[in-house]
Amino acid sequence: MIPSLTVMEPKTPQDLHVLFFPFMAPGHMIPMLDIAKLFSHLRVQTTFVTTFGNASLVQTTINHFNSTNSSNPPIKLALLPFPSTEAGLSPGYENAAYITSLDMGANFIKAVTMLRQPFDQLLQQLLPDAILTDSFLPWTLDSALKIGIPRLVFHGTSFFAMCASHSVEQYDPHSRPEESFFVPDIPHSIHLLKSQVSNWKTNPLIMEMMRAMQEAEEKSYGAVMNSFYELEPDYVNHYRNAMGRRVWHVGPVSLCNENIFDMSTRGDKPVIDKDECLNWLDNKKPNSVLYVCFGSVSRFTTTQLHEIALGLESSQQAFIWVVKKELFQDEREELMEEYEKRVEGRGLIIRGWAPQMLILNHDAIGGFLTHCGWNSTLEAVSAGVPMVTMPMLADQFYNERLVVDVLKIGVGVGVKEYGTGQRFGAGIEKVVSVVHGEDIEKAVLRLMTVGEEDEVMRRRARELKVSAKMAIEKGGSSYLDICKLVQELTHKKN
Ligand code: UDP
Repeated sequence: MIPSLTVMEPKTPQDLHVLFFPFMAPGHMIPMLDIAKLFSHLRVQTTFVTTFGNASLVQTTINHFNSTNSSNPPIKLALLPFPSTEAGLSPGYENAAYITSLDMGANFIKAVTMLRQPFDQLLQQLLPDAILTDSFLPWTLDSALKIGIPRLVFHGTSFFAMCASHSVEQYDPHSRPEESFFVPDIPHSIHLLKSQVSNWKTNPLIMEMMRAMQEAEEKSYGAVMNSFYELEPDYVNHYRNAMGRRVWHVGPVSLCNENIFDMSTRGDKPVIDKDECLNWLDNKKPNSVLYVCFGSVSRFTTTQLHEIALGLESSQQAFIWVVKKELFQDEREELMEEYEKRVEGRGLIIRGWAPQMLILNHDAIGGFLTHCGWNSTLEAVSAGVPMVTMPMLADQFYNERLVVDVLKIGVGVGVKEYGTGQRFGAGIEKVVSVVHGEDIEKAVLRLMTVGEEDEVMRRRARELKVSAKMAIEKGGSSYLDICKLVQELTHKKN
């Protein structure tokens, strides 16, 4: 039976009420819950919407926030029933992180679209003054228009990726004979391979979704992004002026998690005890450990997993490697157990959810081998940690160019093709090759072994950490932007 809709009523009614609804995936829910906290700090009444099956991922954070911030309005949690069975999914598959095949992915999108009716019902019931909803939920625009309130769209990526992907879409590299190109009409000279860009046109489901997202964005009140002006000023300006979008930058939103509890429970319950993790790091020298994590949705082939293991082992560097739990359910289990013994003491393997923010902010961390998901990228920037970049999907190839070419705080492993090393994923047409262990080793050594290049990168990363902190503090660029947005919404309501 589908449980009915549940809303926890607010105790202190405030002037402005904003409702937040992220796409059900960690990379979307995590930053949007942080944004809800930032709004609450500005005395805005907030409601965070997700489904029953995702409640446990946010409940601890919300409870802790509400009990330790009693002078601010509490964040309410509203839960919608997820139509798993109706969409052809097994019960419980309510998060993109649990999807293990393209067919499941299509059913997941179908189920998400079916949330429209209960979401409309929720809006009628709560009558918020504005909604901030995920770009992946374009139909929420109509829900907002129905009750006459503004819809703000949340883009969980960089300004750079928004601008570059827009240009690449116009340029349409797949209709041209050249194998590589410079992204036209953006502030820097950025070179991409055609093979690094997904050819969405071959997938009608994705094409339709992208068309709906763009149309809804154009009709929405504006956009909110998790970035800060000083990080990518040319692209904030380009997005606002050349592309003509109304946008507020409010990041890095992860910085609202200042204490160990918030950092270690962000997104899910970690599989490793936080003290065990901190003790392991405390025993290592400053800047000596490489943190390795590829976000929440990537699915490596066995060969790719093996190559990463080899690359890390032969680099001889100390590392923490986060490997998704279900990757152990087959022959890989044996592979990893034997490997774990070989690297004992030097390598810590976390099988499942890791307290990423806690780890990245430890002095022992000297580099981050990342897939360039935007949250991870910005969390590394905020912690002053330079990166080894290994993009695979979505906006990751754009974020890599921002890190390596524009910010110059990273070294690429040299991934040439969209979908490399992945078993499946949105926009992947075939299983493509792997990144070889030697390439990973080479890039890791370039970043982790002390040399002139390494020092310059490290200095830049430290400077960006300072700017990131300033942006979110009182009077900073992101703080002012979020205040402006709240004022505008309050004014609009009255
Ligand atoms: N994350 C985490 N622990 C993990 C894996 C991921 O805390 O074991 C968090 C990470 O800090 C980030 C988010 O999950 O906030 C992943 O978002 P990102 O955009 O980097 O990648 P995605 O998962 O969307 O590919």
